[in-house]
Amino acid sequence: KHEGKSRLGRIDPSQPASRFARQALIRRSLPQALASKAFTLHYQPLMDIPTGACPAVEALLRWQDPELGAVSPSEFIHVAEHSGMIHAVGRWVIDQACAQARLWADAGTPRAVSVNISPLQLAAGNLVTVIHESLQRHGLPASLLNIEITESAAITDLPSAMAQLRTLISSGIGVALDDYGTAYSSLSLLRELPLTGLKLDKSFIDTIDTDSTSAVLVASVMASARALGLRTTAEGVERETQLEVLRDLGCDTAQGYLIARPLPPAELPDAWPAETRA
Ligand code: C2E
Ligand code: CA
Ligand code: CA
Ligand code: CA
Repeated sequence: KHEGKSRLGRIDPSQPASRFARQALIRRSLPQALASKAFTLHYQPLMDIPTGACPAVEALLRWQDPELGAVSPSEFIHVAEHSGMIHAVGRWVIDQACAQARLWADAGTPRAVSVNISPLQLAAGNLVTVIHESLQRHGLPASLLNIEITESAAITDLPSAMAQLRTLISSGIGVALDDYGTAYSSLSLLRELPLTGLKLDKSFIDTIDTDSTSAVLVASVMASARALGLRTTAEGVERETQLEVLRDLGCDTAQGYLIARPLPPAELPDAWPAETRA
């Protein structure tokens, strides 16, 4: 049986049949992964464009499995959502991010941490309690924690979602709408939802330095965000020329491989080299 498992883990994932087998193995391995600390968080710097400083990071979940190798969140988050494990996984992520933010604060290099929240965590109705308990457990000021939600997160039960987000924001936690420019993006929801920030999806940013239409599109989203008092973050910035366009458009924050890849905490520099670039 053990041999069979190993074989599945090594099967070519581009083959549909083996992708299915890998998904099945992911589903079976997930509970063990949570129990055995196979999860870690990596952190990707969020660069303040005007100053070049990196006062915040986004926490991104990583899973290294002995059989499956590195399992990407795009492979296992939806599995965790379907199995209901997302609630335990999500609580672990929030708690781990708070613990790390506390370590940074204690070391004299405070960084706010942004945590991705699944639609199902918001739908469960206890997100405020889960977050406040973690803050309390680690003695972390709310100003050092932010969350990122997606629009589908909000629309399952809009009144409940709005009430929870309002409570979080009034306690000092930033709430950004993630992946703006994909699937369900609508300007009216943007106006309705309690938010402090907007993250423009990588697909939006990819061509801003090569295609004037996409630059115009981003400019108009940026103008709407500004009118609504939202801080703007551009995702997936890979080229200096993209950063130049974003700076010209007045975008607040840049995130992407140009600045840094997601890194384990030990590999994040204390003072960011980019702090001298602006
Ligand atoms: P996301 O929230 O949109 O996160 C950004 C993704 O883009 C990350 O992928 C990041 O590694 C990648 N990225 C950042 N900069 C660049 C760039 O310049 N170029 C390219 N090509 N990619 C870049 P990752 O870490 O694989 O995460 C994928 C998705 O999985 C995330 O997308 C998020 O939706 C989800 N996810 C990750 N961690 C968690 C978590 O703790 N909880 C939940 N619910 N979802 C998570
Ligand atoms: Ca995100
Ligand atoms: Ca995103
Ligand atoms: Ca994205």
